[in-house]
Amino acid sequence: MPSSSIADRLAAVRSRIDTAARTAGRDPGEVRLLVATKTQDADAVRAAVEAGVDLIGENRVQELVAKAPALADRVAAGTLEVHMIGHLQRNKINQVLSTSTGVETVDALALARALSTRCVRDDRTLDVMVQVNVSGEDTKSGVVPGDAVPLALDVAALPGLRLTGFMTIGAHLDAGGEPAGDAAVRAGFARLRAIRDEVLASDAPGTADARELSMGMTTDLDLAIAEGATIVRVGTAVFGPRAR
Ligand SMILES: *Cc1c(COP(=O)(O)O)cnc(C)c1O
Repeated sequence: MPSSSIADRLAAVRSRIDTAARTAGRDPGEVRLLVATKTQDADAVRAAVEAGVDLIGENRVQELVAKAPALADRVAAGTLEVHMIGHLQRNKINQVLSTSTGVETVDALALARALSTRCVRDDRTLDVMVQVNVSGEDTKSGVVPGDAVPLALDVAALPGLRLTGFMTIGAHLDAGGEPAGDAAVRAGFARLRAIRDEVLASDAPGTADARELSMGMTTDLDLAIAEGATIVRVGTAVFGPRAR
């Protein structure tokens, strides 16, 4: 896609975020746009970054590594953050640590411990979020809601990691297998917010920065903002439909 149309689409997404925030009585400045770049080539991602994007998310380690050289200057300058937003296997953490600034998909203590050990050895701090499967759909990764608070408290206490908040993917199907309605999607987002609030209120070691709620994508970002999203992750509305 030509970079001019990426810039146009980005402007449209930003105005959608603004409208959703104002409608919810929130300051639009509280909602950050993460551009989800899966399947997009390095030129398209670079075009988005040139158009002002300062936070991107990748789902696959292989794509993270392939596009890293095209983004390295911005990352080194501190003007671009790169988050891992896909399921992360422990045997891939070295590649993730060398190419990203944060991991939104911590869903198990073993993974958090492995990241922590590596960060301590490298004398660095990694931003992490706990991914929660609020919808309970078994196709989605993330810790079950009932285990999210204890996992977050354990992660927060690990050296080398900074717990910045929580991430989820909104419900797609309802309990009967039909497309989820707005109420079901919102209820899931509200659940993530309640988990975040409980962790912040705990005052437990390492929880003071756990403010972020990364939730909402192209189809449901308005609902997520209404429920308190501080980061929305958008791909399709920026780049157009992905090739299958
Ligand atoms: C693909 C993806 C997005 C963006 O989805 P769109 O519907 O294209 O906006 C957000 N978050 C995650 C985890 C994704 O995999």
